[in-house]
Amino acid sequence: MSRDLRCPHGCTGGRFEALNAPLYVDSRACYLEHDDSLATFVCAECAAVAIDLAEAAETIRREAEVEPQVLVCPQCGTQMLPPLDDELAPYVECPTCETRFAVEEGMPHLHRGELESWEDEG
Ligand SMILES: [Zn+2]
Ligand SMILES: [Zn+2]
Repeated sequence: MSRDLRCPHGCTGGRFEALNAPLYVDSRACYLEHDDSLATFVCAECAAVAIDLAEAAETIRREAEVEPQVLVCPQCGTQMLPPLDDELAPYVECPTCETRFAVEEGMPHLHRGELESWEDEG
């Protein structure tokens, strides 16, 4: 994983110390590799914990990939976006079969079996 370390205080030396990073050497004690997966990087000049811009960008990218929440029509299975302009609306209407259902019923994590035995009295 590539990193892009920056000192939060703006030091321009570009040198950082990796704490908690095992360092592997060969039989002559020459550097082979290190494992920085759990490391904390600190600025070599002011010892402030460095900011990893590459990791921050990766985190933002991963969050952007999270699927938007969708509602699933309990009647026909059509997926639709929740009504964002009126989040408090208790019911939404399926654009395909025009079934009205509660927003909570359309949440995919709900057990489908419970819905099949449920009957609308209206
Ligand atoms: Zn610094
Ligand atoms: Zn439907």
